[in-house]
Amino acid sequence: MKVEDRPPTSTLCVHGGDRPDPATGAVEPPLHLASAFAFDDAEQAAGAFRGENEHFIYGRWGNPTVDALEEKLAMLEGSGAPGVAACATASGMAAIAATLLTLCETGDAVVAPRSMYGESARLLRERLPRLGIETTFVDQSDPSSYERAIGPRTKVLYVETPANPMLTITDLAAVVAIARKRGLTVVADNTFATPYCQRPLSHGVDLVVHSMTKAIGGHGDAIGGAVIGDSARIRAIKETAIKTFGGVLAPFNALLISRGVRTFALRARQSCATALALAQALERHPRVRRVFYPGLPSHPGHAVAARQMSSFGALVAFEVESLAVGRAVLEGCRVVTHAVSLGDVRSLVTHPASTTHASMPAEARVAAGIADGLLRVSCGIEETEDVVADVVGALDQATSAPSPREAR
Ligand code: PLP
Repeated sequence: MKVEDRPPTSTLCVHGGDRPDPATGAVEPPLHLASAFAFDDAEQAAGAFRGENEHFIYGRWGNPTVDALEEKLAMLEGSGAPGVAACATASGMAAIAATLLTLCETGDAVVAPRSMYGESARLLRERLPRLGIETTFVDQSDPSSYERAIGPRTKVLYVETPANPMLTITDLAAVVAIARKRGLTVVADNTFATPYCQRPLSHGVDLVVHSMTKAIGGHGDAIGGAVIGDSARIRAIKETAIKTFGGVLAPFNALLISRGVRTFALRARQSCATALALAQALERHPRVRRVFYPGLPSHPGHAVAARQMSSFGALVAFEVESLAVGRAVLEGCRVVTHAVSLGDVRSLVTHPASTTHASMPAEARVAAGIADGLLRVSCGIEETEDVVADVVGALDQATSAPSPREAR
């Protein structure tokens, strides 16, 4: 599986994997809501169950609307390389759980980042240990910490870069090199970066997981997830975790997400441009303590990000002096919506310590550097100047300290 490192074009997003519906000629893939598919005769049914023909059998095992989306996703993450396949799932968490439960069994171990999406951390910290699968959490900005944490039963090196919520960067090629020496599998959550900004498979990562609820779907109207990698591994995940555990993507959500993918590159271009402008404006603001954006030279992971990312993403985190000021900024925004999630056409702002990362023990949160005054903005596709003026204006109001004019 040789994957090139190039961002998906709008042409690929619009046309990739599409073909007119053979039955009707419809140019948009139809929505197939059927839970079961009829057979022409007994031999066709028997052949389908033996895997000798492509006939659909049952909705949890495969659906044409979901298949069409999977084909598009494999092209986005795999730059159209042969041998790359995708498995769509009911949510991002279903994708992550399906992947880890396929790769690991009782007694196995995972090495994962200290700073990551809160629910993924909970899966690794609380749920998988009940099945005898333990995780060591490491400082993901230092690849050698992955190497030091590897034990005799380690199976998976898990990466999230940029990572929730402070956009910490992990050197993908360095982690892959460590994994190769020991025959381990590297799984990367590419939700924050999106395939527009980063193609982990091109850096040697084995499996990419996504919350398609975010920028891939992009409209905040459908929960979905995906795993992408070589077709043998994807087949194993489908067989083990999707068919049996049942975290299958609903066809209607597949249709909504497929429609979102058509504008994915256009949306990502606008969101990334706004995020860079916002990060620069916040960095100049006198009442902002720290700004986290991998595109800023001040970000500790900037050099690695510049090497492995083609754009720096739509998320910006920044720290103000206190919880109270942070809350006042949230409440002062008018264009940017105060809601969790990210990657939406709307810009969104959240307060990680009291929402997405509230389930993390306080000490783990402090160790991950998530301050009470930390806010995270996911830039949408509104006009750049409207988003920047809204956040900087709310900040001025919350701190009663107008920023210099040029800060806008
Ligand atoms: N991975 C990351 C980085 C996320 O931010 C999220 C959700 O916010 C998930 C995975 C889980 O995705 P879902 O909500 O679709 O299950």
